[in-house]
Amino acid sequence: MRVQSAQPAIDEWVENHREDCIEFLRDMIAIPSATTVGEDEEEIAKRIEAEMNKFDFDEVRIDDFGNVHGVIEGTEDGAVMLNSHIDTVGFGDRSQWTHDPYAGDIEDSTLYGLGAADMLCAMASMVYGGAALASLDERPTHDVWITGELMEEVSEGHAMQYVVENEDVDLERVVIGEASEMNVKRGHRGRCELKIELDGASCHASAPERGINPLYHASAIVERIEELNEETADHDFLGAGTIAATNLEVDTPSNNAVPAGATIYVDRRLTIGEDEATAHAELEDAIGAAEAIYGEDVSATVETLTFDRPTWTGYEMESKKYYPTWLLEEDHPLVQDTYDVVDEVLETDVEITKWTFSTSGNYTMGVAEIPTIGFGPSWEEFAHAADEEVDVDNVVRACSVYAALGLEL
Ligand SMILES: [Zn+2]
Repeated sequence: MRVQSAQPAIDEWVENHREDCIEFLRDMIAIPSATTVGEDEEEIAKRIEAEMNKFDFDEVRIDDFGNVHGVIEGTEDGAVMLNSHIDTVGFGDRSQWTHDPYAGDIEDSTLYGLGAADMLCAMASMVYGGAALASLDERPTHDVWITGELMEEVSEGHAMQYVVENEDVDLERVVIGEASEMNVKRGHRGRCELKIELDGASCHASAPERGINPLYHASAIVERIEELNEETADHDFLGAGTIAATNLEVDTPSNNAVPAGATIYVDRRLTIGEDEATAHAELEDAIGAAEAIYGEDVSATVETLTFDRPTWTGYEMESKKYYPTWLLEEDHPLVQDTYDVVDEVLETDVEITKWTFSTSGNYTMGVAEIPTIGFGPSWEEFAHAADEEVDVDNVVRACSVYAALGLEL
């Protein structure tokens, strides 16, 4: 491995820039970028671009969508991406935080703040790992893209669809920096957001026999959905799929009327062997349960929800809220190469595991079929939690890992 000869220089560069890296992380934490509560990533994207511009990246730019990229050119065709999303969720109930979510307090080598774990820590490590790589005398084999991705917390992978379809880049491998406990993650369950729209016929509630009541049809469907949760597929590594009815909207002119329509919302977590088509087929099965009782009065359609929020640059693109399951086999070269690098750099007992939550890997691997792997400096349990935290030393060590992955992959 080239890493062995390059690592002393990488580690020295990283050690010399340790304080700057952590200050950069604290700066990012101070910038509100919670897309789940309507904030955008303009300020943080520009802050990251400015940081990249301090170093020897061959190219630094913000694309039309609003993602930020720093590129180190390699000696051969093809590119490796180190990917981090730059939005966060909202801080939630402020009273549950003992630290200011935007202060980036450090106590005993633990840094607290919104996005500290999910996943501005990885963005800081990737920018500094990329900068360490750019400072070396030798070039990586492939182009290395350090990418800050938008809107992951509201539709993971949406922004990667833009990059893959519109950017002039031949991505061969993607490393996602979501919390991995400094281990290597090779997949996760997928998910799909769906709705069933029911049409009825509204009438005065004093004479309900004149109309068709879609609420009764919805009731039979929801009951069947509850049963379907016991019938999902299972997988020994990723676990079982789940299905849950999560919302019911009724279109009615009054509480004294039979409603004109109803919409049932469904959250489907998908494991190996399940996809958008099987999720639709299940909901058709649930509609069948209503038809068995109410016959031809049932008028229902199944649809996958879509996502189309404009980005901070005003770019508009629609994507389906279908996030496929993905898994790389343990003996896949990317799994083994990543393991070898992480093992070499960290000299710890590195495990190969899975994520509990969904990441943009659902698009890069699940849709675009670009081999994707996970390594990140934080712990899953701190994501979306009050007093979100990351270990400062792990952020610094991850810089060396990302530099080595850029060089080696
Ligand atoms: Zn995340």
